[in-house]
Amino acid sequence: MTDIRQNIQIVQEHIAEAVARSPYLDSADDVTLIAVTKNHGVEAMRQAIDEGLVVIGENRVQEAESKYDVLSRDVSWHLIGHLQSNKAKKAVRLFDLIHSVDSLSLAEAINVAAGKEGIVQDILLQVNVAKDENKFGLDAEETMDTAQAVCKMEHLRLRGLMTIAPFTEDCETVRPFFRKLRELYEQLQKDDLAGSQIDCLSMGMTHDYVVAIEEGANMVRVGTGIFGAREY
Ligand SMILES: *Cc1c(COP(=O)(O)O)cnc(C)c1O
Repeated sequence: MTDIRQNIQIVQEHIAEAVARSPYLDSADDVTLIAVTKNHGVEAMRQAIDEGLVVIGENRVQEAESKYDVLSRDVSWHLIGHLQSNKAKKAVRLFDLIHSVDSLSLAEAINVAAGKEGIVQDILLQVNVAKDENKFGLDAEETMDTAQAVCKMEHLRLRGLMTIAPFTEDCETVRPFFRKLRELYEQLQKDDLAGSQIDCLSMGMTHDYVVAIEEGANMVRVGTGIFGAREY
């Protein structure tokens, strides 16, 4: 049986150690541990929430929706998987933060949906720093232009950047991608665009969150490290 409590303790220790090594972070409290619960049931989710985790990460709107109805708990829901424009309306109702905005047309759809709900939706731009053909995301080169366009949209608030690094056995090889995303993030902070509040750098999953934090991540998305392997 997976010991969720113990796993969370281990992850939190690793986070604290990585923060201590990182020149970009002051305190482990600055890092949000997102419990990635895709393909895990609400019982496991309840355990993680009981251990004090307050942010749930889900990949798909439909799966999140079904759990949302059961888990009437005071947690924050984040969308981390690819979103289709026709699900923007549901997404803005469910999620406090959408990490996976990977095109201007999707941003426009979310802006319209948020407008209809009368809210301002917090979003991150997903950047495909590694130019991985199998992954969604903006090219690094188009990120700044897209950020400017997004900030002009009335019902969106740009909060920062997200990336998914390629999977490798040796996670040192992904450090340059994390570094690159942090540089883009710092550039965005400097630009200080009206309509933005740049404070979220979402990078790192179970196998590479330590490297991501060393490079400045303040949001890590951990599934397997907390809940064990997913059964598909
Ligand atoms: C599934 C997923 C994660 C978590 O992956 P693990 O390797 O299980 O930690 C993080 N981010 C995204 C975007 C995911 O799809």
